[in-house]
Amino acid sequence: MPKPKIYVTRKIAQEALDLISEKTEMEVWGGELPPPYETLREKAGTADGLLTLLTDRIDIPLLETAPRLKVISNLAVGYDNIEVTEATRRGIVIGNTPGVLTETTADLAFALLMAAARRIVEADNYTRQGRWRTWGPQTLLGQDIHGASLGIIGLGRIGVEMARRGRGFGMPILYYGPHRKSEALEKDLGAEYLADLKDLLSASDFISVHVPLTPSTEKLIGRAEFQLMKKTAVFINTARGGIVDQEALYEALSSGGIFAAGLDVTDVEPIPPDDPLLRLSNVIITPHIASASFRTRKKMALMAAENLLAGLRGELPPNCVNPEAFKNPTKDI
Ligand code: NAP
Repeated sequence: MPKPKIYVTRKIAQEALDLISEKTEMEVWGGELPPPYETLREKAGTADGLLTLLTDRIDIPLLETAPRLKVISNLAVGYDNIEVTEATRRGIVIGNTPGVLTETTADLAFALLMAAARRIVEADNYTRQGRWRTWGPQTLLGQDIHGASLGIIGLGRIGVEMARRGRGFGMPILYYGPHRKSEALEKDLGAEYLADLKDLLSASDFISVHVPLTPSTEKLIGRAEFQLMKKTAVFINTARGGIVDQEALYEALSSGGIFAAGLDVTDVEPIPPDDPLLRLSNVIITPHIASASFRTRKKMALMAAENLLAGLRGELPPNCVNPEAFKNPTKDI
């Protein structure tokens, strides 16, 4: 029986590529940038499986021209780049990589929180520019982190780890989400549930977003939400750029509506070099690197390879976002 055909949209950890190539006829896009959409669509047209990144748009027209496709394994916990409903309708299972990147992502979110509050990037630039002439009593003042309240929007895997980091700094934790968490977890984190997002926004010194991008979270934080925040507030987003109205964020940062922001994600990505946000000194923007540690990226790649191979064997991928698509097992490999 011929081996299943796989298209991998970027060079990922070699260990994962070895696992895949052992069982399949694998092709890897070697470019540093993602494959152009038309290339991806053409490759998907003959593939049994795809290993994709969040930069690959898997939309309805692509799925319509991919009759053999059984599995899409996304190297990310988020999967807003994929038309899940259509894939499910076509019986295509989708894998993601939750859990293994949780702590690494929370580490970066907390690093952004600290850097934005204490103006670390700005201070480093100040030093390099030769502006450090004396110890200034009013120079580069920031916001205290210890003892300040941390409001978490979306207390899921990453939100919980962010709360633990905040707790380590003596921060009272507030959280908002569709469901109140268990009393045991609230006690463990010292976290207080606020059923109304408005209350969290007005009460928190730091606000960190950890929800997935879905129709219900798109532009969840807009002008009205920034207006509720304290003028001293620091806003962190490591989830997805589309959750925030970026123009409203710019207004809040440039008008003194909030103190600072730290972003790992923007709407759109990459952020255009002439975006007005990049002219502000009170925002730090990293290029979507929250899960980018050597160890975590390797774990993600291995997990994505396992999801892909399970889907090709006609098994439910160990981490599947649409198990309802799983109906026609085929034991090809
Ligand atoms: P998760 O465990 O599924 O947590 C998501 C949380 O969001 C859950 O607590 C959920 O509440 C809450 N939520 C869902 N819809 C909401 C809404 N409308 N309003 C408020 N809260 C809502 O996911 P995770 O592993 O923590 O990851 C979260 C997101 O982070 C991912 O979807 C991804 O987009 C992003 N991410 C980014 C990076 C990066 O590189 N920057 C890395 C990893 C993840 P319930 O539990 O009550 O349903």
